[in-house]
Amino acid sequence: MEKSEILNRIEELREKIRENNRLYYVENSPVVSDYEYDMMMAELIRLETENPEFLSPDSPTQSVGSDLAGNSTSTSADSGQSASDIELETRLRGSGKEFEQYEHKYPMLSLGNTYNIGEIEDFADRVSRGIGDAFTYSCELKFDGTAICLTYRNGKLYRALTRGDGSVGDDVTRNVLRIGNIPQRLTGWGWPEEFEIRGEIYMPYKDFDRLNAERERDEEPSFANPRNAAAGSLKLTDPDEVAKRGLECTLYHLLGEDLPFQTHDQALKAAMKWGLPVSDKRRICRNITEIEEYINYWDTERKFLPFATDGIVIKVNELPYQQALGYTAKAPRWAVAYKFKAEQALTKVLSIDYQVGRTGAITPVANLEPAQLSGTVVKRASLHNSDQMELLDIRIGDYVYVEKGGEIIPKITGVELSRRDGLCRKPDFPKVCPDCGAALVRDEGEAKWFCPNSDTCPTQIKAKLVHFLSRKAMNILAGDATVDQLFSHGYVRDVADFYSLEANMLLHLDGWKEKSAQRFLESIADSCNVPFERVLFALGIRHIGETTAKSIARHFGDMDSILSATREQLLAVGDVGEVIADSILAWAADPKHHEMLRRLREAGVNLRTEGYVEKASDILAGQTVLVTGNFSIPREAMKNLVEANGGRNGSSVSRKTTFIVAGEKPGPEKIRKATALGIRIIGEKDFLAMLPEQKLNSEEPMLKDTNISEIPVQGTLFDW
Ligand code: NAD
Repeated sequence: MEKSEILNRIEELREKIRENNRLYYVENSPVVSDYEYDMMMAELIRLETENPEFLSPDSPTQSVGSDLAGNSTSTSADSGQSASDIELETRLRGSGKEFEQYEHKYPMLSLGNTYNIGEIEDFADRVSRGIGDAFTYSCELKFDGTAICLTYRNGKLYRALTRGDGSVGDDVTRNVLRIGNIPQRLTGWGWPEEFEIRGEIYMPYKDFDRLNAERERDEEPSFANPRNAAAGSLKLTDPDEVAKRGLECTLYHLLGEDLPFQTHDQALKAAMKWGLPVSDKRRICRNITEIEEYINYWDTERKFLPFATDGIVIKVNELPYQQALGYTAKAPRWAVAYKFKAEQALTKVLSIDYQVGRTGAITPVANLEPAQLSGTVVKRASLHNSDQMELLDIRIGDYVYVEKGGEIIPKITGVELSRRDGLCRKPDFPKVCPDCGAALVRDEGEAKWFCPNSDTCPTQIKAKLVHFLSRKAMNILAGDATVDQLFSHGYVRDVADFYSLEANMLLHLDGWKEKSAQRFLESIADSCNVPFERVLFALGIRHIGETTAKSIARHFGDMDSILSATREQLLAVGDVGEVIADSILAWAADPKHHEMLRRLREAGVNLRTEGYVEKASDILAGQTVLVTGNFSIPREAMKNLVEANGGRNGSSVSRKTTFIVAGEKPGPEKIRKATALGIRIIGEKDFLAMLPEQKLNSEEPMLKDTNISEIPVQGTLFDW
């Protein structure tokens, strides 16, 4: 290759790697497999090593991929995932700018990696050449999650930072406090006054499957794998949501000044005694044969673990040797990762179905000859959209490679062309909806084709009705079969029809008895108590997932305000981007929806947030207020008041808390900590006196006040 060609290739690889870094670390939506990415990186390292004149400090070979959010906006031309999907996900995940950033005391680096045992032998040789033969290795599972750095001070969790760009990380302490197996206080004795411990936050498969199933049902983009789900969840802006995601942590690297350990193994054993979660699957190996045994054992056994691993990490165990070997700009010289290739199955495509979703999106799904993959039998695999089918150039009858990605059904990653024969035939992507026959449409920027017939396409209507009833929406006790039955008898056509059902209508239908009919009707009546934010989600407006619905409902407070909001007003909501705003505007422009809402309102369905107050002032701008205890109005209403006056509601006491509004029975720990930090505590009456006159949607409050001096302050003080 000519030098100019080499330079072109180097630049091309750098550009591709940078873009893939952004999609992977910031968007949590990779579009190439880790293997493909690692092969690009390996080629770049080789070209730079062979042509050192082209080395550059800003090459991605010289720094770790950063998870800090930049200002770049997402592009997805060839990603197979629509711009709106990515935007929606980014919205749900939070932008990362929500977090304070702190410098790492010790840089957080990556690991050199290989898929080749021979290169592990090279690593062992290199280390021996550097430090002789009197050392051991710590072999560990490579947990496939997102790195975290925890600082403990005086036995208490003080701060949790993400890896960020290796030098500076996002402070995700309030989210980490909601991860069950991370202790807030250490147990045992002998811990240093201050130390750091690093590890991985990951999402077990069961929680990952649950999360993606919910997202698929809500037609939100699913996460590509548990790693991305863990990384995305850790950057959510609402700690309550984080708590629901089922994240777990494992810790694998203790750091600090003058630690009394000679080996990495001793340090981790001590950490275990202090109550920190450390893996019991580690092994101390004396030579390359033992390392290979460990690798081979876990290459099979890892398939039975309840969480994802993507390799093995091999570390020099003796700490003085680690120090002697040191670091490159990007990784320690005393450790290396051996990576496993994703498991694949090769099987035949029998046919392709085109499924119609709740919002009319058409998803091609291949029916496969059953094949074993990661412990389950795979019979169906998603082809995502027509572009993906073109890209794969797939034929019915082809043998294809199937991988388990993030989706509930696995995905097809390639076609084995050597097995294609004359009987294979090119599939025709339908031009019309397979259900109602309407001509399909595809909006600019969308990867999917849609059936535009949202009002009369039976599959779409039924899917909308099922969504309305679902647990996270109106929580009405019924499912697909009931909806099918009621729809086919013409009893329900839109969600408001549920509220006109009567027992005698149900009793005419197969399988209904007095009791079941009564239970169903009671459950419909109970749904009138469902809070407005869930009703908004239940309406099934395209792109409005659970979290977005919550933000919009809290921002506007009632349905009428949402319906009359301008694009600019919608865009002012933290979680709303252009795609979501346009979707709401389109929904609001349809008179049928107004009529349906009128009937829902008449039935008593909640179309406003209790205690909601309109934007009143900026008196609390820049202030973080913590509301604790019981008040004369619901606590939620107090919190709404904070936001309506430009303030921010805090969830825990910290130095950033401006003041506390304490009602009856406030959280004693909150009060203790606030007192220790010298944070002002006021009662309800004083708080309301600070604000301009408010008009509350709930009844006029009967003002009670709390005598702050009566709040007991006792016990030790918190200082994180
Ligand atoms: P990495 O994930 O390959 O390895 C380093 C990380 O391993 C550490 O930061 C740590 O978080 C983790 N780890 C897990 N168990 C560990 C243990 N027992 N001991 C020490 N560390 C452990 O490196 P990275 O820099 O985080 O990411 C680079 C890799 O990410 C690439 O090799 C590639 O596979 C993937 N990637 C993929 C894409 C894509 O588009 N598919 C893009 C960027 C990166």
